Amino acid sequence: MCWLTEKIRSFFQTKKTGQDKKEPTKVIRPVPSHIQEGIEFGYKYPPEIAELIGMEFHRGQDYLAPVGTPCFATKGSIVNVYDDVKYFGLYVVEKVVLENVILYCYFCHLKEALVKIGDQVESGQTIAYTGASGSATRLEGGNMVAHPHLHFEVRKNSRASSAAVDPLGYM
Ligand SMILES: [Zn+2]
Repeated sequence: MCWLTEKIRSFFQTKKTGQDKKEPTKVIRPVPSHIQEGIEFGYKYPPEIAELIGMEFHRGQDYLAPVGTPCFATKGSIVNVYDDVKYFGLYVVEKVVLENVILYCYFCHLKEALVKIGDQVESGQTIAYTGASGSATRLEGGNMVAHPHLHFEVRKNSRASSAAVDPLGYM
């Protein structure tokens, strides 16, 4: 093999390896397309709200979904169901194993889960209905009232809350 052929071959091999390292990570939107997005990932709460709810950093993406809106599995994967009265309310965690990354997708403040712990679901399958359970509240006329929405959180390679990343980066 001449040196040029060798060089070209190694160039393409390097290129291919580089591509493999890229995260091929797209998940589908967790709610129907007509549902509007609310508060985004990051420091988005006004200070007075942050103080009330004790949370300055918003670790997920909110969707302004009326109670009973279907939630879709973002990939074919395993799900788990939990209940946390104080914060997330009834919530489902979908463990999405992609080529180079594991994403834990949290569907929070649900009204009803259609899956149980350890279920294998298909991409796009309706796994729950949105609600306002847990801390899904907002200020209205000086009072905290129910605020139906889906809080969708994506944690990368860990279930620690500090592993939360912007879900929109994966859609
Ligand atoms: Zn939220």
